[in-house]
Amino acid sequence: MQRVPSLINGEFTISPSQQTIAVTDPANNKQIAELPCNSDAELSMAVASAKAAFNSWKEVPASERARVMMRYQQLLKAHHDEIATLLSSETGKTFDDAKGDVWRGIEVVEQAMNIPAMMMGETAENVARGIDTYSYIQPLGVCLGITPFNFPAMIPLWMFPMAVACGNTFILKPSEQDPLTPMKLAELFVEAGAPKGVLNVVHGGKDQVNKLLVDPEIRAVSFVGSVPVGQHIYKTATDNMKRAQCFAGAKNHSVIMPDANKQQVLNNLVGASVGAAGQRCMAISVAVFVGDTKEWIAELAALLKDVQPGLWNDEAAGYGPLISPQAKQRVLSLIQQGKDEGATCLVDGSDFDIEKQDYRDGNWVGPTVFSDVTEDMVIYQQEIFGPVLCCMAVDTLEQAIALVNRNPYGNGTSIFTASGGAARKYQHEIEVGQVGINVPIPVPLPFFSFTGWKNSFYGDLHAYGKQAVRFYTETKTVTARWFEDDIASGPNMTISLK
Ligand code: NAD
Repeated sequence: MQRVPSLINGEFTISPSQQTIAVTDPANNKQIAELPCNSDAELSMAVASAKAAFNSWKEVPASERARVMMRYQQLLKAHHDEIATLLSSETGKTFDDAKGDVWRGIEVVEQAMNIPAMMMGETAENVARGIDTYSYIQPLGVCLGITPFNFPAMIPLWMFPMAVACGNTFILKPSEQDPLTPMKLAELFVEAGAPKGVLNVVHGGKDQVNKLLVDPEIRAVSFVGSVPVGQHIYKTATDNMKRAQCFAGAKNHSVIMPDANKQQVLNNLVGASVGAAGQRCMAISVAVFVGDTKEWIAELAALLKDVQPGLWNDEAAGYGPLISPQAKQRVLSLIQQGKDEGATCLVDGSDFDIEKQDYRDGNWVGPTVFSDVTEDMVIYQQEIFGPVLCCMAVDTLEQAIALVNRNPYGNGTSIFTASGGAARKYQHEIEVGQVGINVPIPVPLPFFSFTGWKNSFYGDLHAYGKQAVRFYTETKTVTARWFEDDIASGPNMTISLK
């Protein structure tokens, strides 16, 4: 069985650790690799290596650091299909979806290529007579990234390229459920010219994370994952005097106005709700039908019923399996709870069975649609993270806005309408960090930042874009006074001060 290497101090080494985790193909739950969890000594070596590398990496000019990102972007593009195939093998994502996962990461690397212009400070002349003030942007030191299973290419690439382009060194602890893709990303990063120790990749679960979180050499922590873990990491990192940004769970609503284009709404909601088996932090999990649009629910349910999950290389597959048997069990028990609480289950994917004999043991769940969902139901309150759409009905836009704003999450939302006035009111009043207008999943491109709110984000500065540069750097402000009396005069230095 293939054992997954770590990247420590520039070497891809296989830890002799006896503590291991099975990496499986979620389509049949067969083991495809074994992941050794790093020991405390190995974690300390990774930190020491990142610390030593920082001393020289921070002196490398920003334009040279950008060139590493340029080579990295080329390599990622050249290996795009290969990475996507690997990603599909350990997540079950359809090939197109896997390619999208890698592509959204490549876009962040392209943003990191612009680092010289993004690290310029400010200047002001004559802040007092003869005194000038100017600022520099300087890297922090060793940064840590902890990533979830659902985007094993995109989310690591949200973090280390921006941090490293800023002049930091980085320790990545990827999800233990799909570590093969992040290791391929690391391999190409080294090939692109990242010096020894600039990126380290270590493996494990909560023990490894908790050890790193208290290491005094680590200056900043980026986390993406579930709410309870995000809260724990934010509290522990900040208690240990580190900067932290923690992106957490979500419950994203789409509001459908009576003047919206019906066909566009239905087509968009199908992909946005069950695409990637609903395992996207920006998936639409609640559709809020305003006024008579509740009549569209039956048609939407019929479209969703036709979506077939399937294998990653089956072009007809709408999406793949859930990541693990535990994830499947959780989703099935929430579906059952929805039925028990009195929601109407219009489409029930709980006993979906894939036709292919060899894959019957995979973590399959068919598309599931509930209507008559109310705010007190567990299927509304909890993030399901599965191919399940909850439909709700309200009479007015004001009621829709109030409903979304009462929800404790604030990652993404969208409104479908032909009215500029309705769209303007929604974007202005909604308490959610990322808003789509006739765009179901409004993930910003990396020259903006990924700006979740409320329980979807703990911290101040968000991922990628200008906010990432501020997160991964310090600003140094210099106030300088030079005295004209000191100007030397002599045969070569004669200056007329008149
Ligand atoms: P998770 O919280 O279980 O794991 C995330 C990471 O934390 C993993 O690397 C894991 O090893 C580590 N971890 C797990 N338990 C820990 C503990 N007790 N202490 C310390 N570290 C621990 O999340 P997941 O299941 O991998 O990912 C799915 C979640 O991620 C969903 O809730 C989803 O909404 C969220 N997510 C959010 C965003 C966003 O931008 N807001 C993006 C993607 C995913």
